[in-house]
Amino acid sequence: MNGNKLNGTIATEATLRQEGYRKYRGEEIDVYYNASLCVHAGNCVRGNSAIYEVGRRPWIIADNADVNENIRVVNSCPSGALKYVAKDTK
Ligand code: SF4
Repeated sequence: MNGNKLNGTIATEATLRQEGYRKYRGEEIDVYYNASLCVHAGNCVRGNSAIYEVGRRPWIIADNADVNENIRVVNSCPSGALKYVAKDTK
């Protein structure tokens, strides 16, 4: 899945929120999650248990890994329940 796209266009905070995604803020990248789309495949928690830990609050902590790792794991989500918006920090 292309984790920075939503319905074929680049995802933004506004469009993601409109579609029911919740934001998990990070320093350089924000991760978004839509529980109603999650099929509980577990790719996220298996992919990086520092970022994703079920039962922790918040269960997603983007800052526990670098940007590329966040992108890699979001893209491994098969349902589109995870998305990201990378920030321009330069
Ligand atoms: S990888 Fe995606 S579909 Fe699978 S559990 Fe995580 S959020 Fe849900």
